[in-house]
Amino acid sequence: MEFIIKSKALYTTWVLYKPDRILFDVGEGISSSLGNKIYAIENIFLTHSHIDHISGLWGFINTRNNAMGSREKPLNIYYPENSEQIVKYISFIKNMNNRLRYSLNFIPINLKSVIEISETRYIKPFKTRHTPSELTFGYQIFEKRKRLKDEYKYLDQNSIIELSKKIGKDNISQRYDANILTISGDSLPIPLEYAENCEILLHECTFFKEEDRKIRNHTSLEELKILIKNINAKKIIIYHVSSRYNSIIKSTEEKLKKEFSDKEIYIVHPERKLKL
Ligand SMILES: [Zn+2]
Ligand SMILES: [Zn+2]
Repeated sequence: MEFIIKSKALYTTWVLYKPDRILFDVGEGISSSLGNKIYAIENIFLTHSHIDHISGLWGFINTRNNAMGSREKPLNIYYPENSEQIVKYISFIKNMNNRLRYSLNFIPINLKSVIEISETRYIKPFKTRHTPSELTFGYQIFEKRKRLKDEYKYLDQNSIIELSKKIGKDNISQRYDANILTISGDSLPIPLEYAENCEILLHECTFFKEEDRKIRNHTSLEELKILIKNINAKKIIIYHVSSRYNSIIKSTEEKLKKEFSDKEIYIVHPERKLKL
């Protein structure tokens, strides 16, 4: 299993990415829903200060202190720097939980930040279009990989082995950074450059119908489809959907699967946890 996701626009959103034990946002209900799994999480990335994305944080921090589980692992919480609401919330949490038995670090980040999450993977935030008064983030996970240098691409297997013996393994390959995952946070469609080459895209789609959207700070399905058409991602996970569409989630997902038959497409049902 790679993901556990709960997302209902306005109510709660959290995304657990299991391979790196990362949590994107911490909406309400997360601790009771994840139970002991919260001990495995070492890094939390907040996208912005809206309540439906951060309201579970206080409980999460407290439960991780008191429930049965290892307290050896530190907990790092990354958030957009200068976010006034988050800074206030952090100060409240620190005051209320001043006897923590594990190391808790709140780390402000900006658009230049690169956060190492393992020896081979790192995360970069990018700016989204959601609330003009606040810096809001989406995130990309990158993996450092190696591949055959372009000039040797057309050699057959035996020639590659020969060449490798002759000039050395390191000299036939080149390093590159693969964008394994991009998550939009709350936003209008994210710029193509952050989604273009990702392997998995998690994108919000609060509104299936354009006419339901009163303020342009969330994505509509029509807009998202244009983005999907222009990217290489094989897996698309649509989240942060308004519960007004509960009755048409399934049929909408079916339609999208037909329209984009070369991709795996999932919609996170606002009333259910998606395990993938
Ligand atoms: Zn939201
Ligand atoms: Zn929001």
